[in-house]
Amino acid sequence: LANRAFHPEDSIIDVSGVQIGGDHLGLIAGPCSVESFEQVLEIAQKAKASGANLLRGGAFKPRTSPYSFQGLGLEGLDILCAVKEEVGLPIVTELMSPKYLDVFNEKVDLIQIGARNMQNFDLLKELGQLDRPILLKRGLNATYEEWIMSAEYIMASGNENVILCERGIRTFETYTRNTLDLQCIPVLRKKTHLPIIVDPSHAGGKWWLVEPMAKAAIAAGADGLMIEVHNNPEAALCDGAQSLKPEKYDALLKQVSQIATVI
Ligand code: PEP
Ligand code: MN
Repeated sequence: LANRAFHPEDSIIDVSGVQIGGDHLGLIAGPCSVESFEQVLEIAQKAKASGANLLRGGAFKPRTSPYSFQGLGLEGLDILCAVKEEVGLPIVTELMSPKYLDVFNEKVDLIQIGARNMQNFDLLKELGQLDRPILLKRGLNATYEEWIMSAEYIMASGNENVILCERGIRTFETYTRNTLDLQCIPVLRKKTHLPIIVDPSHAGGKWWLVEPMAKAAIAAGADGLMIEVHNNPEAALCDGAQSLKPEKYDALLKQVSQIATVI
C-alpha cells in the first residue's frame, strides 16, 4: 500500500486542515515535553508567528532511564488541547500505549509513534482502527525496508494516512546523538508515495546542528520538519541541549521558506 509502483502520485495527508506532502510543508514545532500551560502557550504563540503550522509536545515520554521525567501524561495532553484552543495549531504528540488509543483518537490531530515503538506491531495494528493520521518515526536502527513495512502494518490494518519521520539512526559516531540520514529522502521518495519529514533535533542532539541540517533536509526535498523549540532550554525537563530558542526558530524558518521556493 505504501509502494510508489501502485500509487505514482505523492500522497498529501490532511492533518485537521493542514496539508502535508506534495508542495505543502508540515512545520512541526514545540517543546520535547509538555511542562506547563504557560510554557507551551508561549512557545506555541511564538512558533506560530514564525510560520509553524503544527504544535508538538510530549505528554507520555519514552525515557531511557525510569528515573528521568516521564511526562505529565493525560494532564499534559489536556494542556496541549487547551493551548490548541487558544492558539489554533493542531497538535502532535506521542502515543506509547494502546491503553490511550481512544483518548488520542479523540484529541490528537497527528498521532506520533516514536522511534522505540516503530516495530511494536501490536500497537501499529491498533492504529489501523483510528481516524487520525500517524507520524511514524524511524527506529534507531531500522532499514528503509523495515521502516516501510511498519508503515505497511498501519496501512494494511485500515489507516492509510501515514507520514514518515527521519530522526537520525545509530552509527559508530558518538559525538552526535544520532546520525541524520538525508539519503532516506530521495530513497523513500522513490520507494513510497508517503510524505517524509525530518527531525534534526533528535538526530544531532545539539541545538547548533539543527539549522544546517534542517536547511539541508528541505534542500533534499523533505516535506517538512519537526523541531524542538523551548522558551528556556537551559531549564528544560527534557532535551534542552537540542532545543532552539523561539528567536532562532524564527530565523531558521525565514531561511527554510527561501530554500523551499527555489527547489
Ligand atoms: C520525540 O519526538 O519526542 C521523541 C522521543 O523522538 P524519538 O522517538 O525519535 O526518539
Ligand atoms: Mn525530545
